[in-house]
Amino acid sequence: MKKILILIASVTTIYLIGLFSLNSHTVQDRILIFGLKNILNSSEPFLDDKDTLKVVVCGSRSPLPSPGRAEACILVEAGDDIYIFDLGNGSNNNLTQYQVPWPNVKAVLITHLHSDHIADLPDAHLQSWIQGRSSSLKVYGPEGINLVTKGFELAYSADYKYRSDHHGQEMLSMSISGFDENVIIDNQLIPNETPGLEILPFVVDHYPVNSAFGFKISYKGRTVIISGDTINDGSVQKYSQDADLLIHSAISIDIVEKMREVAPIPQMNKILLDIQDYHTSIKEAGEISRDANVKHLLIYHSIPTPRNKIMEDVFFRPLDGVFDEYTLSDDGTRIIMPVGTDEIIIDQIN
Ligand SMILES: [Zn+2]
Ligand SMILES: [Zn+2]
Repeated sequence: MKKILILIASVTTIYLIGLFSLNSHTVQDRILIFGLKNILNSSEPFLDDKDTLKVVVCGSRSPLPSPGRAEACILVEAGDDIYIFDLGNGSNNNLTQYQVPWPNVKAVLITHLHSDHIADLPDAHLQSWIQGRSSSLKVYGPEGINLVTKGFELAYSADYKYRSDHHGQEMLSMSISGFDENVIIDNQLIPNETPGLEILPFVVDHYPVNSAFGFKISYKGRTVIISGDTINDGSVQKYSQDADLLIHSAISIDIVEKMREVAPIPQMNKILLDIQDYHTSIKEAGEISRDANVKHLLIYHSIPTPRNKIMEDVFFRPLDGVFDEYTLSDDGTRIIMPVGTDEIIIDQIN
């Protein structure tokens, strides 16, 4: 009995000392410094020493809202170099949080000019400028990309000057502000200096978007396909033959039809009807993966993004008996494909 009383008294004393300490400014400041060190020195493993083809989903949702997710963005790391495909709203925040080393980002590639694929270009411009890129931000995009980049440059011209004046030319040189935009040509490799890397753009059908691309990325025997936004016109399947990873946008017609039944305003009903004619259904994405002998299907730009287990089950129901090697991506989903192996490692970096 005495021992129990001593134990209770000891625990209570330790608890009270702890409680008192947490209210002490000195202890709070020390804990704060410890926490800030963790936040600002994330150990997220970009550019580790293994030779891999790596994908990080920096934005997993479509324009339909989904809490905590950014719009379309896929980061591809091949060896020491990084390429970013699309920069939808919220994606730059993710890239910053993941502590992506912008000096290693060799280019941003835009699949098409819908707002959910380009909205964060200005924020990525600033982040890469701060981190010391050596030239204007290189962007590849379809016909019309110059209107986007020139438009952003005009809209942000005061911002560029204010920041350059404030932090100095040495850190934020006006000579490298703005974008270096390049037009993508169908089936013409994107020039790059990453040994062993090929980035092949191919036209997809996202009518009435008059120029939209998917990408085939090959690195030392490993292959990733990014569909962009498209109907099932055969092109993604053609380029996905035997690919390690197919990253495909997909719509759940079942869920979207149910959303139409409960849409609170007629405009929403119309949009939910219209979007069905220029996206690939989840069932088609599964059939493409099966028929092209894809090893793994990663769904992003999901319409709508499932918010719970039941919604996820309904979303993927059409894949029953069609294709079962799939993952619904979240922001921060990472796929690691070591060179010289068949391994596909999937984890989460946030
Ligand atoms: Zn989109
Ligand atoms: Zn689109």
